[in-house]
Amino acid sequence: MTLRPPSALTSLDALERAGLTDPADRTALQAVTAEFRVRISSEMAQVASPGVRAQFLPDVREAQVLPEELLDPIGDDAHAPVSGVTHRYPDRAILHATKTCEVYCRFCFRRETVGESGHLGEAEFEQVLDYLKATPAVREVIFTGGDPLVLSARRLGVMLDRLEALGTLDLVRFHSRVPVIAPERVTEALVTAFDRALPVWLVVHVNHPDEITEAAAQSLRRLNRARVPLLSQTVLLRGVNAETETLERLFRALIRHRVKPYYLHHPDLAKGTGHFRVTLEEGQAIMAALRGRLTGIAQPTYVLDIPGGHGKVPVGPGYLRRNGDLWMVSDPQGREHIYRDL
Ligand SMILES: *Cc1c(COP(=O)(O)O)cnc(C)c1O
Ligand code: SF4
Repeated sequence: MTLRPPSALTSLDALERAGLTDPADRTALQAVTAEFRVRISSEMAQVASPGVRAQFLPDVREAQVLPEELLDPIGDDAHAPVSGVTHRYPDRAILHATKTCEVYCRFCFRRETVGESGHLGEAEFEQVLDYLKATPAVREVIFTGGDPLVLSARRLGVMLDRLEALGTLDLVRFHSRVPVIAPERVTEALVTAFDRALPVWLVVHVNHPDEITEAAAQSLRRLNRARVPLLSQTVLLRGVNAETETLERLFRALIRHRVKPYYLHHPDLAKGTGHFRVTLEEGQAIMAALRGRLTGIAQPTYVLDIPGGHGKVPVGPGYLRRNGDLWMVSDPQGREHIYRDL
């Protein structure tokens, strides 16, 4: 038997041929994939773990849109001073460098817009540079997408050169799923473009320990060697990782690969994603359980992006309760203790 080189799966037909979807669901899934595009990278197509598959395989339940599922769940459109920029906090601005990704995650909060063709154009990037020049309070540019690491190393290098030349930035940050789900894209050319005087930080989006294949581990090592500080962001998802054991395995795997868990996101109100959603209470219970048993270095902050573009905030669990003039503080086992302020 000869092994064919694996390739990305980008259509319902391809998924059906690979035996990943049930032909009996075909009509229902056609409706779903007409609205939300399909793509599973070759690396992820080779991982059989249910917690990984559930993130990328279209599901008939995506057709159920709930009233609270807003069109722009995190309000990206509400704070766009120039095309491609979201500027909500004074010291940092998001740059939407592209709308495409190496995978299309079924729970994505930008699922309405990802997959449209086209990267940020040259003229648009000039306008972004003009905006940053006029707004020196912005000390950090955050590349997001889509997935900014679908851009070529050459293009990213040119953009980073221009940003570094502004002289106003403390760092540039990338949010990307590529180092894990398409590790072959983390080439020597890319890490060379990242290893520069202006610090480049990378937040890798990873949700399940089985996503960290041997190739993914190697791509993280390449980034590490290029002096790129690595953080992670994880979306809390029913049917994927919303269990203490799974998240503990994920966060331990990340610190072994020199990645600091940064954020655990409460799922956003994206259209047709109700089957992934957990309650805040469930999320807090998982975080409380992790607090007692997992090194502090591996603890992310559990955050909610308040619908309507009102910002991201930590959502507990809380360990403090007022009791008259006193504070009651809960320990990791849930027992309360008195703390007296001056
Ligand atoms: C999440 C987010 C950021 C980055 O926030 P940090 O807490 O610094 O990670 C910046 N701008 C917008 C609009 C965001 O949604
Ligand atoms: S933007 Fe990120 S979460 Fe959304 S589909 Fe692309 S890779 Fe997945």
